[in-house]
Amino acid sequence: MSTLRFKAVEEALKRVPVDVVTPGKMPSEYFGKYVFNRTQMSKYLSKETMEIVLEAIDSGTTLNRGIADHVAAGMKMWAVEMGATHYTHWFQPLTEGTAEKHDSFIDYADDQRNNIIERFSGKLLAQQEPDASSFPSGGIRNTFEARGYTAWDPSSPAFIIDDTLCIPTVFISYTGEALDYKTPLLKALNAVDKAAVDVCKLFYPDVKKVYSFLGWEQEYFLVDKSLYYARPDLILTERTLMGHESAKNQQLEDHYFGSIPPRVASFMQEVEYEAYKYGIPLKTCHNEVAPNQFELAPIYGETNLAVDQNLLIMSLMHRIADKHNFKLLLHEKPFAGVNGSGKHNNWSLCTDTGIGLFTPGKSPHDNLLFVTFLVNTLLAVYKHNALLKASIMSANNAHRLGANEAPPAIISVFLGKQISAVLDKIENSSEDDEISVDELKMMKLGVAHIPEVLIDNTDRNRTSPFAFTGNRFEFRAVGSSANCSSAMTALNSVVAAQLVEFKKELDKKTEKGMKLETAIFETLRHYIKESKAIRFEGNGYSEEWKKEAGKRGLDCETSVPLIYDAYTTPQSIEVFESLGVLSEKELHARNEVKWETYTKKIQIEGRVLGDLCMNHIIPVATEYQTMLLDNIYKMKSVFDEEKFEKLSKEDAAIIEEIADHITAINRNVYEMVEARKVANKIEDAREKAIAYHDTVETYFSKIRYHVDKLELIVDNRMWTLPKYRELLFIS
Ligand code: ADP
Ligand code: MG
Repeated sequence: MSTLRFKAVEEALKRVPVDVVTPGKMPSEYFGKYVFNRTQMSKYLSKETMEIVLEAIDSGTTLNRGIADHVAAGMKMWAVEMGATHYTHWFQPLTEGTAEKHDSFIDYADDQRNNIIERFSGKLLAQQEPDASSFPSGGIRNTFEARGYTAWDPSSPAFIIDDTLCIPTVFISYTGEALDYKTPLLKALNAVDKAAVDVCKLFYPDVKKVYSFLGWEQEYFLVDKSLYYARPDLILTERTLMGHESAKNQQLEDHYFGSIPPRVASFMQEVEYEAYKYGIPLKTCHNEVAPNQFELAPIYGETNLAVDQNLLIMSLMHRIADKHNFKLLLHEKPFAGVNGSGKHNNWSLCTDTGIGLFTPGKSPHDNLLFVTFLVNTLLAVYKHNALLKASIMSANNAHRLGANEAPPAIISVFLGKQISAVLDKIENSSEDDEISVDELKMMKLGVAHIPEVLIDNTDRNRTSPFAFTGNRFEFRAVGSSANCSSAMTALNSVVAAQLVEFKKELDKKTEKGMKLETAIFETLRHYIKESKAIRFEGNGYSEEWKKEAGKRGLDCETSVPLIYDAYTTPQSIEVFESLGVLSEKELHARNEVKWETYTKKIQIEGRVLGDLCMNHIIPVATEYQTMLLDNIYKMKSVFDEEKFEKLSKEDAAIIEEIADHITAINRNVYEMVEARKVANKIEDAREKAIAYHDTVETYFSKIRYHVDKLELIVDNRMWTLPKYRELLFIS
C-alpha cells in the first residue's frame, strides 16, 4: 500500500485555517509602511534632495554621486530604524523572478579597524557588482568578463523585507548590454512617453508627459503542502506531468461562484495585509474558474512600479502560502483538463494632465484624440502580432496557448460593437466627407444614467487575447508566472514606433497645406483599412478561427522556439533599435537565453517523466498485475476447469491490458531518452530547442496517455501519486 500519499491526504484533511494577525488599523494607516516612498522620503531627506530626486524620477535624468550620498544616508537611517541590518540590490534577471545579493551595512569605523559601524554610501546605493556569471546572458558576458552591474532605479522605491533593505535596480553587463527585464522596459516607457507626447501636443499643447499604466490580474493555484510534496513532478517542474482527470472538475462552474474556502480566505487576508504594507493597492481577491484556482488584482499604476509590485507580490505569496501550509503554483498550466493561469495585463496611456488616451472623450476633440490612439494601437498590434506573441511565449505558457485543449496562440484584437461601428464609419467615409467626431456620442447609447463602463462590461469577449475594455486594452495572453516587463516592453515599443510613424505622416500632409483634422482622418482611414485583419469579434477558441486567422495572414506559429524568431526579424530590430530600447546584439542574445531556457525546461520535464514512469508507475502497475496473477493461480487450484475459465476471464483481460500499457510506456520512455541524446549533441541553441520541441516533447502526451489509463485500472490503495481529485479539491 502507498503510505506517503495517504499520509499526505490525512494531513491535508486535518488542517485548519492559520490565524492571521490583523494590523488592527485601517489600511490607510499602515499602507506603504515598508516602502521608502514619497512620505518617508520627505521625512528623511532634505527638501532640496527630495526635489532633485522627484525631478529625476519624472524626467528620467540621472542623479549625481552627491545626491546619491544624501539619499543613501536618509534611506539608511529609515532602514535602520525599521530594523534592517542588510541591504541588497534587487534585480530582474532573464530567469523570471528576482535576484538579490545581500550585504551587511557593517563597516570599520576607522583605519585602525577597531570599531564597527553601519555604513551605506551613495556609491553602494547607486551601483553594485554582483558576480553575475550564473545568470543567463546569451553569450554577452563570457566567463572572462563575469562582472555585471546593478544600478539603482530611483523611479521604483526601495523597500524592506525582514532585515534587508531592497533597492530596485537594473542589471547590465560590463559592456553596457541589458541582462535583465527592467532596462529595456524603462527605455520602452521612455520611448512611448516621447512619441505619445508628440502626438498629444497636436491636440493639447500643454501635455508634457504620457504615462503607461499597468493593472495586472494574477491567477494562481494553491495546493496543500503535504500533497504537493508527494508529487515529484510538481516539486521539480511545477506542473503535473501525469494524472487522470478527476471525474468532476470545473464542469459545474461551482468554484467560481462559490465561497472562498476558509484556509484560502485566511491566506488571502494575510496577502492583503502584507501587500498594503508594501504599498501594493490590492483591490480584488476571488476564486477563479478551476478548482483551487484564485486571482488577485491591484488598482492599476505606473507600469515600471506595477511590474516591480507584481514581482514582489509573487514572492510574498510564496512565503505566505507556505505559512498557511499551501504551495503556490504560478505555472501557466499545472493541471491538464482545467483552466490554466494567466496574468491579464490591463494597459493604458494617460497624460500628465489627466487625459486617458483610451478613454472615449466627452467632446469631439477628445474623441478624435481617443480614436487616434486606438487606431494607432490597432495598427501596431497588427504589424507586430508575431512579436507580441513572442513576448508572452514560454515553455509553460505554450500549454495555455497553442497546445492541445488550449486556445490558439494567435494575437487578435477585440473592440466591441460600439467601437467597431465607429471605426467602420470612419473607414467608409470618403475623403471629402465632413465626418464629424460627434458620431462617437453613440457610444453612450443615449442612456446617460448608465455609466459607460457598465455598457462596456456587458460587451465583453473573454476569448480575445487582446481586448479593448472601455478605457484600456487587456493583454490576456500574458502568462501567470511571467515578468510583465517582457509583454510591456514589446507593447509599449511597437505603439511608440507606430506613433512616431503617424506623426511623420501627419507632418508630411500638413506641410503640404492639409488641415490637421483632415490629415488625421485621412491617415486613420488608411490605418483602419490596413489593420483590418487583426480585428476579430468571434470566439477566439474555435477551430474556425485558426483557419480564418491563417487566411488573414496572422502569425499562427505554434512551435515555441520558432515563435521567438519574431524578435530578430528586420522589422522588429528596426523598432527596438530606432527607439533605443534594445540593440540587435541584445535581441540575439536574449533569444539565445529563451531557447536555452526552453530546452532546459523540456529536458527537466522529460527526465522527471521518465523517472516517475520507472520508479512509480511501472512498479505499482506490475505489483497490481502480480496480485491479479496470484488470484488467478489460486482460483485454478480451487475451481474446476469450467468455473475457473469463467471466473478468471476479467482478471486475465486486465493483466493483458496492464502489460500493453507497460510495454507502451517502456517503449516511449526509451525513445524519448534516445531523442534527448540526439538533441543534446546539437550545439546551436535554436536548433537544439527546435529538436526538443519537435522530438522530445512529442513523447510527453503519448506516455501520459498510458500512465493515466493505468491510474484508472490499478488498485487505488497502491497508487503512490496524489490524484487530481485530491490535489484540486482539498483546501
Ligand atoms: P476583470 O477581471 O473584469 O478583467 P478586474 O477588475 O479584475 O477586471 O481587473 C481589472 C484591472 O484593470 C485592475 O487591475 C484595474 O486596476 C485595471 N485597470 C482599470 N482601469 C485601467 C486603466 N485605465 N489602465 C490600466 N489598468 C486599468
Ligand atoms: Mg481581466
